[in-house]
Amino acid sequence: MRNKSKLTILKIVIAFFIVALLVGKTYDIGLNRPPLRYANIPDVTKGYIRNIDQNNRDQGVTISDIGPFDWDNTLDLGQDKSRNKNKNEQKEWDQVENENFIVYYQPDEDAVWQGHALDVLRQAQESIEPLKELFGVYFYPSDMNGRRLPIYVPSTFAKYQETTCALLEQPNYDMTNVAGITITQIGPLGCLTLGILLNPDDFTVDPYNINGYIKVLQHEMSHYVFFTALDYNKDVSHHLWVSEGIAEFFCSRHDKRQVTGNDSIEYIRKNCPLYDEFPLEASYWAGESFFLFMEQDMGRRMVKDFMQNAYECSTDSVFFKMGMPPMQLHQQWLDALSPRLIMDSLEMVAVAED
Ligand SMILES: [Zn+2]
Repeated sequence: MRNKSKLTILKIVIAFFIVALLVGKTYDIGLNRPPLRYANIPDVTKGYIRNIDQNNRDQGVTISDIGPFDWDNTLDLGQDKSRNKNKNEQKEWDQVENENFIVYYQPDEDAVWQGHALDVLRQAQESIEPLKELFGVYFYPSDMNGRRLPIYVPSTFAKYQETTCALLEQPNYDMTNVAGITITQIGPLGCLTLGILLNPDDFTVDPYNINGYIKVLQHEMSHYVFFTALDYNKDVSHHLWVSEGIAEFFCSRHDKRQVTGNDSIEYIRKNCPLYDEFPLEASYWAGESFFLFMEQDMGRRMVKDFMQNAYECSTDSVFFKMGMPPMQLHQQWLDALSPRLIMDSLEMVAVAED
């Protein structure tokens, strides 16, 4: 009897140790793992993310599992793991970096692409404050489990295409005529941007494309901020013109007067209702025109408020929350465009006559 009870105690002790080991192990993994942020993404938001991934060409946003260690930049595609194995073989990627960004470029003899990479690094750094001003937020590595934002500057179109396909894990993604792309993964642990890629053509010196890469970089960086700011626990389904329009508005790629002409006012009247999607191309220029109208007729504060609300709810709910019925606002937008067009053309005549 006594012996039996000793045995039981022994069993209990052993069991306790095994449980303690398991708990310790789980606890250890738990310590290293970032907390869950988007435990329960609603179906409507999943649908929105799928829609972006399928229909838009410069935003690759997917829902996929992100592991606790995926945030580490050592897993970036630009990290050339074989660089020291064969000294005669040219390195595929080299990098320039600071505390916020890693810019990956392909080294060449004249260091032309290293120069471009350094320009991109400086411009990315300088874009942080303007992004904060408009979007009300910026995400530093300390907000992203230590991850620095990777920016890829490939020197050939082929490499641009290949790198995009590799990051998206889609073998046939066509990057023809796409100036840049932001590739983002969303999972329970958060929103992780795999990288921003710039088309080598953005660096072509062209009188109509001066500093072209800066505008593209800023457009893509605004996608990084917008998609990281969204609260995926909620219905944050937006029309594409919101993310593309605000990106164009932010980088002000166009001469503001050229965003809208007579033909485009008619086009907006027929095809761009604020309560629905615009045609794909119009999501960019007409979306920009809408935010310009908001800034000029209601003040920049309203554009910023619109974005703050957009992180928490769908486009339709943003209009509702801000007390702006979209049908009425659409008419206001059209009304505002026409006299401005006449004024601008008179101004241009006056300039021409000077
Ligand atoms: Zn875009």
